[in-house]
Amino acid sequence: MTVTSQPVEAFDLVIFGGTGDLAVRKLLPALFHRFLDGQIPASSRIIGIARETLDNEGYRAQLRGALVGSGDDSRLDAFLQQVGYRPLDARKPEGWSDFAELIGEQPDHVRVFYLSTSPELFVDICARLGDFGLNKGASRVVMEKPVGRDLASANQINDAVGRVFNESQTYRIDHYLGKETVQNLLALRFGNALFEPLWNAGHIDHVQITVAETLGVGHRAAYYDRAGALRDMLQNHMLQLLCMVAMEPPSSLSPDAVRDEKLKVLNSLKPIEGGQVAQYTVRGQYRAGVAEGTSVPGYLDELGDSKSNTETFVALKAEIGNWRWAGVPFYLRTGKRLPHRVSEIVVAFKPVPHSIFGADTGPLAQNRLVLRLQPDEGVKLWLTIKHPGPGGLRLRHVPLDMSFAEAFGVQQRDAYERLLLDVVRGNPTLFMRRDEVEAAWRWADPILDAWAAGGESPRPYAAGSWGPSAAVALIERDGRTWNEDSD
Ligand code: NAP
Repeated sequence: MTVTSQPVEAFDLVIFGGTGDLAVRKLLPALFHRFLDGQIPASSRIIGIARETLDNEGYRAQLRGALVGSGDDSRLDAFLQQVGYRPLDARKPEGWSDFAELIGEQPDHVRVFYLSTSPELFVDICARLGDFGLNKGASRVVMEKPVGRDLASANQINDAVGRVFNESQTYRIDHYLGKETVQNLLALRFGNALFEPLWNAGHIDHVQITVAETLGVGHRAAYYDRAGALRDMLQNHMLQLLCMVAMEPPSSLSPDAVRDEKLKVLNSLKPIEGGQVAQYTVRGQYRAGVAEGTSVPGYLDELGDSKSNTETFVALKAEIGNWRWAGVPFYLRTGKRLPHRVSEIVVAFKPVPHSIFGADTGPLAQNRLVLRLQPDEGVKLWLTIKHPGPGGLRLRHVPLDMSFAEAFGVQQRDAYERLLLDVVRGNPTLFMRRDEVEAAWRWADPILDAWAAGGESPRPYAAGSWGPSAAVALIERDGRTWNEDSD
């Protein structure tokens, strides 16, 4: 199948934090791949900003090292010619007027200001962009997650950014929404007659969402210790996935039609407050152990602080209070130093109402639809079939298994490739609207508050395990199990 990419208008993309981990590891490689596919117009400029004193050549040299081997190296220099650098301190006035002049050289370009710095700088950067009138015309600002650390701080950031950029110019990125599988969820649910009639409490037993990482916190320990698993993963990525599973069919794929439906889901999440928090949530922190065959230190040792109460694992049971989902639990779990790197959504259907098969045919297992977001994006539908051949009617539970990479013979692209160009195109469908972020914090805050008030330490778990045993108990108490296929 021929893959076509849609052209975009010429743009200037300014990356604040252009020397940082996200920019170098994700954003620039994504842009390089789009360049290789001919999607970056020749006059477009990519400008990295950070405090480090570098000139264009120095920045390009840094990037060259990071980008070699990630695409066609023979075209790397041509790509880097479109990349430049400006040293600027977001907190100091020097240099901003030169920067504004540089941007002013291309008045017709779409302007994207990507805030890939710590969130504390978002307000200062936007204020300066506003001072120089860089918020005018086709200007957009992209905010990395997490937007705030609770509802109050999210409001502070959104208010300050909102004084400079209006909501239609503001793109709150959640790269999970750019993943193929998540968009495939829309195609599966709303492009097939098969699933939607069954997509409700009458037929679905429960839903599981797992985002498991094998890595520890490494060099991001200082940032992570202020966040923890709930703020870093669950409040944003995992709730967004939950919304995509649970939302009503939008009337179209227009940005607000989709986001209105997601918002309704977030607003329908049943609060988990006070005494319920201990019953419905489990927080953990990894200790030393063996991860992927290697002995690794525990979180506290990696952090260099033996007193931290930050969770590196969270599992919880969420419920959505509406007609479609009444009584259907959504089990969410995420953590660091788990046995495999896997992100998946499991939709487990109810068993058939009556078995016509005898006891000797084998157990009747649940149909499960498994949407794998990583590492190998794809879809698995577990079905019960007859084991082929003689020997009587023996039942087997087997998957219809489709890996997108194998089925379509195309290499999966990083979600940032799509999302960056969606910003240039001015399409916010896959970005979070302010009210979504607020609704997500409104639900998460009471959990964080109860944890803080309880003062209990997270439960320890060995690196390389699936988290504290209480996370297994959380689901087994309800007579269910975590999807073993991911184990
Ligand atoms: P990072 O590696 O610490 O990079 C921070 C960048 O900001 C550096 O380029 C730094 O360069 C620059 N910076 C710091 N202070 C500055 C100032 N006063 N003025 C101008 N530039 C300044 O952080 P990161 O991991 O890339 O993360 C960036 C953002 O993305 C954060 O909000 C993070 O939560 C989010 N995020 C990151 C990832 C990831 O995988 N890394 C994933 C999801 C979201 P100088 O020190 O030279 O100024």
